[in-house]
Amino acid sequence: MVFFFATAGIMFQDITTLLLDPKAFKDTIDLFVERYKGKNISVVAGIEARGFIFGPPIALAIGAKFVPLRKPKKLPGKVISQEYILEYGRDCLEMHVGAVEPGERALVVDDLIATGGTLCAAMDLLERVGAEVVECACVIELPELKGRERLNGKPLYVLVEYV
Ligand code: IMP
Repeated sequence: MVFFFATAGIMFQDITTLLLDPKAFKDTIDLFVERYKGKNISVVAGIEARGFIFGPPIALAIGAKFVPLRKPKKLPGKVISQEYILEYGRDCLEMHVGAVEPGERALVVDDLIATGGTLCAAMDLLERVGAEVVECACVIELPELKGRERLNGKPLYVLVEYV
């Protein structure tokens, strides 16, 4: 894992070096698959953009569908939207109407949790259409930002805590 400054004073955790090592990438996916296989999860919802890297291989391995949660105006069909507050401004996630049915069991996947706002917005989208969010899964947690505390008690599974 390498770190670089995206903006002066902001440390950005970059997962692309993990992807350069096929064994490390496979081991990462396998850890999630071990945890979620046989848990009756029918939806893996991946958050744009890096949730699209980890979510689909997990979905395929556990026999779930993959649903992309995208930034505004990217999905072609009818969408529901959820705004959320970022450390520096606002953002929004969208999901296709009909992609997830009421009562489905969903796993939310992203590369990293910082303040937790993004995962909260993802869970709100899924719960608004009647799905049950079983857990959120990220490769990295930045515990100092206390994002876990914003998840309203929803379980969060991470592979690495970076302090
Ligand atoms: P949060 O909403 O503050 O938890 O921010 C998490 C979202 O921002 C995720 O979608 C991450 O991909 C992205 N993000 C925030 N900080 C970083 C970082 O240091 N590296 C990679 N992604 C980050």
